[in-house]
Amino acid sequence: TEQTQEWLQNYVDDWVAFYRKHTSDGEVASYIPILKEANKDHLGISILGKNGMAIRSGDVGIPFTIQSISKVISFIVACMERGVGYMLDRVDVEPTGEAFNSIMHLEMKKPEKPFNPLVNAGAITVTSMLEGRTSDEKLEPIFHLLEHILGYRPALNVDVYESERDSSMRNRAIGYYLLEIGFLESDLNITLETYFKQCSIEVTVDDLARIGMIIANDGEDPDSKEEIIPRQVTRIAKALMLTCGMYDASGKFATYVGIPAKSGVSGGIIAIAPPRVREEELPFINGCGIGVYGPALDDKGNSIAGIRLLRHIAKQWDLSIF
Ligand code: GLN
Repeated sequence: TEQTQEWLQNYVDDWVAFYRKHTSDGEVASYIPILKEANKDHLGISILGKNGMAIRSGDVGIPFTIQSISKVISFIVACMERGVGYMLDRVDVEPTGEAFNSIMHLEMKKPEKPFNPLVNAGAITVTSMLEGRTSDEKLEPIFHLLEHILGYRPALNVDVYESERDSSMRNRAIGYYLLEIGFLESDLNITLETYFKQCSIEVTVDDLARIGMIIANDGEDPDSKEEIIPRQVTRIAKALMLTCGMYDASGKFATYVGIPAKSGVSGGIIAIAPPRVREEELPFINGCGIGVYGPALDDKGNSIAGIRLLRHIAKQWDLSIF
């Protein structure tokens, strides 16, 4: 009912006001120079569910680049283009326990395929598998899927793209290493260009929440019942988000929050409420998508206030899938 929604809204407003103070414990990302321009105090959340259920609080209108959250989308698109079997033969689904941009574990462990699609080495490999000869051809299906979900075509933030491209030593090192060991299926430069561009797609917390809602509902729009992403692909995406989505803090996130999520260095987090039948008073939290933005990061590169806010909400609403 409307009353319940208002009641939940008031709670979320209080929690956002409280956790906004925690942004001072973090730092905005600086290794991509332009990301330093973000306002450290920002914190916003959008929670979207079926029948237009919406709770929004804090700094919700601010566009930010999707960064690593794009790794979920590129993996989904690659699975839709190539098939799940093809992708799983070439990219593993194991958490690394290492930082997102680690190169060391690839050299030390000499795996037969990259560890998982949600850290840079795996994501760059996935991007090399997208169909198309140019970066724009490879990106088109990503934009197309996003447009299908969001109802508008998101923009590419060219300044962020150029800033990352021109400061991408680590990703180039990873790319050369992947090239050397034979994991890449497209030209290295085109692959990296595509990867930097996919990270520079601009979204809002509403956009993340809407994408999350589709994934939460096994790829189906819960209102129109249209299948947007195959169910099997969303299953794998959710398992990957739960086990690898928060980099080397994924275990803690699974323990203390307990829902599939993926973060990015611009401070975004996409999270997914389980679509199960719950306590009477919270039925419309089922199958919600959640988008969070808080550019102050912790030492793992995850939104510091965003994680704490999600942890609080998950506890209050008993969201853990466990
Ligand atoms: N574009 C960023 C990078 O590859 C994405 C990383 C992230 O969001 N953690 O460095």
